[in-house]
Amino acid sequence: NSDLVLYVNLELVNLPQNRRYIVKEMLGQGTFGQVAKCWEPETNTYVAVKVIKNQPAYTQQAMVEVSILDTLNRKYDPEDKNHIVRILDYFMHHQHLCIAFEMLGNNLYELIKGNRYKGLPLSFVQRFSKQILQALVVMKDAGIIHCDLKPENILLCPRAKPAEIKVIDFGSACEEGRTVYSYIQSRYYRSPEVLLGYPYTTAIDMWSFGCIVAELFLGLPLFPGSSEYDLLKRMMEILGGQPPDNLLRDAKNTTKFFKQVGRIYSNSVSSAYRVLTEEEYETRESKKPQIGKRYFKFITLEDIISQYPYRNMPEEEISRESSMRKALIDFLRGLVEFDPVKRWSPLQAIYHPFVTGEEFKEPYKPLPETPRIPVFQAVMVDHNPGG
Ligand code: ADP
Ligand code: MG
Repeated sequence: NSDLVLYVNLELVNLPQNRRYIVKEMLGQGTFGQVAKCWEPETNTYVAVKVIKNQPAYTQQAMVEVSILDTLNRKYDPEDKNHIVRILDYFMHHQHLCIAFEMLGNNLYELIKGNRYKGLPLSFVQRFSKQILQALVVMKDAGIIHCDLKPENILLCPRAKPAEIKVIDFGSACEEGRTVYSYIQSRYYRSPEVLLGYPYTTAIDMWSFGCIVAELFLGLPLFPGSSEYDLLKRMMEILGGQPPDNLLRDAKNTTKFFKQVGRIYSNSVSSAYRVLTEEEYETRESKKPQIGKRYFKFITLEDIISQYPYRNMPEEEISRESSMRKALIDFLRGLVEFDPVKRWSPLQAIYHPFVTGEEFKEPYKPLPETPRIPVFQAVMVDHNPGG
């Protein structure tokens, strides 16, 4: 059926060096511009070309995307084993920066939607988790934060590679230690530290990843916050607890959501902060907080996962499913962890029984993260020019 729309929008793009991309159909639109499915006659392949709006801010950010993805591909994943989209080319066309990527399929949101928001079988959740984690291990090694991990930005590979996925859209990515923006991540997948305005690291991608894993299983977002206040309240309700005091003490936006009720340096077990009631929030922000409906019958993460309908599962599979759900709960607890310091790193998470498929017996204790040893590149210095 997609053949019918193939030639609408047909346009021939002629490039120097005989590169031609024939636009066949539009794949997606965003604030940055549009993505077109194109035919490349020289290589007989389809490619996805992102055409950036011809405005300096978009072009600049897209150049960051090009440079980050090029580094990730060539330096950190030369053999294309780690589920990160390949960048093929980039060029200027009529003052539009264009980026050509390998052609991929539907995104994971479309997959969930196609399954009528009922969630995917745990075997798929496990396979996808492992692949996303491989991408995250590479990104962390490279010191890159994706900043917009969500189901829409994870694409299925073409049919030749079933159940394979790739992470796309490095249009919001940044280098760790060069975190320029504070308003990042799509709301449902936004980490507590970003929400509260606290210096962030690659750990924010691990929070988003946890939210994605839960959503793949449940079919619906775990924290569908209608506003930032609603998002925070949902996290606190489902997870129990709240962000740690040291984070609340140093974060820029703490007073938007919390009230100080105790001494910060006291050794008391209770927190020095209490979340604002809706009324208090309204008074402080001079607007009613938007509050959304609950999506799940149960409140806690444990209940939401373990009590999720078993659908029409054969009797003999139920005990394995129940054991895998226990592993999933333990896995999620390490990911959607309020404290970014305690939250598992990609390498810690990748050895969890939920990912490895080992039998889950007891709460997982990851090995401590070994500090990253910087790799220094040898630089040749010519001490004897012309000699
Ligand atoms: P944005 O910054 O707008 O989110 P993306 O890079 O995510 O930009 O691209 C927008 C949409 O275009 C994606 O959600 C997807 O539907 C489509 N798309 C992007 N890259 C590809 C690709 N390599 N293959 C197929 N479709 C793609
Ligand atoms: Mg996107």
